[in-house]
Amino acid sequence: MPTFDYAPAPESRSVVTIAPTYGFFIDGAFTRPKATFATLNPADESVLAEVSQAGPKDVDKAVAAARRAFEGEWGRLSGAERGKYLFRIARILQERAREFAVLETLDNGKPIKETRDFDVPTAAAHFFYHAGWADKLEYAGLSAPGATARPHGVVAQVIPWNFPLLMLAWKIAPALATGNTVVLKPAESTPLSALLFAEVCQQADLPAGVVNIVTGDGRTGQALVEHPDVDKIAFTGSTEVGKIIARSIAGTAKKATLELGGKAANVVFDDAPIDQAVEGIVGGIFFNQGQVCCAGSRLLVQENVHDEVVAKLKRRLQTLRVGDPMDKNTDLGAINSREQLDRITTLVDAGVAEGAERWSPACTLPTKGFWYPPTLLTGVAQTHRVATEEIFGPVLSVLTFRTPQEAVAKANNTAYGLSAGVWTEKGSRILWMADQLRAGVVWANTFNRFDPTSPFGGYKESGYGREGGRHGLEAYVTTTPATPTGATR
Ligand code: NAD
Repeated sequence: MPTFDYAPAPESRSVVTIAPTYGFFIDGAFTRPKATFATLNPADESVLAEVSQAGPKDVDKAVAAARRAFEGEWGRLSGAERGKYLFRIARILQERAREFAVLETLDNGKPIKETRDFDVPTAAAHFFYHAGWADKLEYAGLSAPGATARPHGVVAQVIPWNFPLLMLAWKIAPALATGNTVVLKPAESTPLSALLFAEVCQQADLPAGVVNIVTGDGRTGQALVEHPDVDKIAFTGSTEVGKIIARSIAGTAKKATLELGGKAANVVFDDAPIDQAVEGIVGGIFFNQGQVCCAGSRLLVQENVHDEVVAKLKRRLQTLRVGDPMDKNTDLGAINSREQLDRITTLVDAGVAEGAERWSPACTLPTKGFWYPPTLLTGVAQTHRVATEEIFGPVLSVLTFRTPQEAVAKANNTAYGLSAGVWTEKGSRILWMADQLRAGVVWANTFNRFDPTSPFGGYKESGYGREGGRHGLEAYVTTTPATPTGATR
């Protein structure tokens, strides 16, 4: 195996200014910091900033601001006018792309090449896409015959730490396009890009109260989703918390979409172009250190090509560069938090105790920060915890199958149903597999492709509702008649 030395190519962190402390963004302005807690750079455990913990009273203020905006200027705007704001936000995101990429990498730990080439451009693309819908909702098939689609009102949005800016865009863009107002809570370990986005809202002259950002941990999220003046909830996060939210709103008039966990099967048939599949498998599980809801974390490989695929995977993993997320050469950055690192370690150890064989390439991990090497687990059985539970880390569990029927049975043998991959030369088999797999997204001969035009969402314990595309808009409107104060399109 030839080895290569790369000269370091660090991105400059001077393009972004991080304040020492942050308050909330409510009614178009930043509040004074209070009850602060630290947000860390997971690559070296340094404190990036102190952010505020919102209590019920702060959440109340944010929801009240969103309600006023909904019943005020924003609610009276035409779709075309709303669209202008979305276009403006999209353009500002593009103009400030480097700033966002650096900030996201510092706060999350993911490689700069991912924030620069994926997170930030895809977030901007979501605003551009939804800007186009704002004045065309009647063509989106949103209206039932004779009825007019209307916004719900105030939307509570709670998001996780794995794609902080992108999840914000997935949430805020469709909500604004359809005329709702928003209170968003970012994850406690990655609040900074949402707070920078608040500046973008100011820069775009978005009317006060249309977007409000409150920071804090699960208690803040709970206060937000349980607030009586919230009309709709959009949550992305763990299945465990999704269930708590579903229980807490049962019996209320609140609408909800829940985008939860996953345990995707990436199915490789013996007729697949193996080298191409190996690239797809690597991208499928090691993108964002595997901290991806739709990560291809269960490799199902046809028995007769198992040894070849595993040998090629091992060879490829030896070329992955793990280290400083700000270095443009880096393929794998840091794990987002100590808690997440502990979860990964515990689960992998359990897999080994249950009989899986563990392999990682030789790599030197930094001594500070939260790190886990790219890892293969072979000899995994369907009953092993590493085959059933979401690891959410750079760990691939390898299982085998003999027939397409067995592949489908094993792929569907999960509580989740978010995504799946199929690698084969045969188009007819792709269509058959896509029909059989109980997953919201099925990729064929590729993996982890995202586009704002394409709906994304799960079956079973991966949640309900779709985000993106025309289907994603539907979650943000109702066809019931408007109240006298309700907004119109
Ligand atoms: P998490 O559920 O712990 O937290 C998600 C968010 O919910 C955070 O902002 C958190 O503060 C908040 N929260 C915690 N308890 C709450 C409560 N009781 N009420 C309201 N809000 C509460 O998830 P996480 O660890 O941040 O994220 C990882 C999870 O997210 C994984 O399971 C992953 O699969 C999932 N995810 C799913 C998608 C998808 O589109 N399906 C996308 C990304 C991540």
